[in-house]
Amino acid sequence: MLKSIINLFFPKTCCGCNSLLLTNEKVICTECRHKIPLTNHHLNIENEAFKKFYGRTPVVHASAFLYFHKKGIVQELIHNLKYRGHQEIGEILGSWYAADLKEVEVLKTVDWVIPVPLHKRKYKERGYNQVSTFGKSLAQELNLIYEDTLLLRTSYSTTQSKKNRVARSEGIESAFDTDYSEQHHNKHFLLIDDVITTGATLESCSRALLKIPGAKISIVCMAIAES
Ligand SMILES: [Zn+2]
Repeated sequence: MLKSIINLFFPKTCCGCNSLLLTNEKVICTECRHKIPLTNHHLNIENEAFKKFYGRTPVVHASAFLYFHKKGIVQELIHNLKYRGHQEIGEILGSWYAADLKEVEVLKTVDWVIPVPLHKRKYKERGYNQVSTFGKSLAQELNLIYEDTLLLRTSYSTTQSKKNRVARSEGIESAFDTDYSEQHHNKHFLLIDDVITTGATLESCSRALLKIPGAKISIVCMAIAES
């Protein structure tokens, strides 16, 4: 009752196109739902996301749910999720993508869902990690454990400028480390992020997780920037 009154004065709008949502629509309108560009990576093991990690770091599986285009619906969704507090977008994308990922044989051995950690400074500004609702929703639908304390960011200070020239050249401001114990040995980790561009951050995260004995890595993202 209260909800419908609030809705009368502050009608809900679609996070993709800003048009008014019908009462049976949630977060993303039906038109946007049909227009969002799907990659269908889950149908092809050797997809473009997977190929990004060739010769860089071993991954069991890599895929992104959507194509990210400048000024497209997906850019709008990610922007609303990252900067306007619409965390429900991650939740809905996670539940949609989980339905596809359930069909992927190699993902059936995944144990833990691990989000790419946010920089401390950014976490303070934003108050949330933009991939957490996506990860939690995937974990819930796929019956996995969501774990956001295993992988950590270790910042470089500017005085350490000599350190890790490669990381700096790829625009990475920080390195990653893991705080693991025996319970993390021999696990298959599903590393998640919002948009894959160069894959450099995900590569660094994978390397950190691979320090854990017997670790296997898969990668799933909300979107991939079309090159
Ligand atoms: Zn829409």
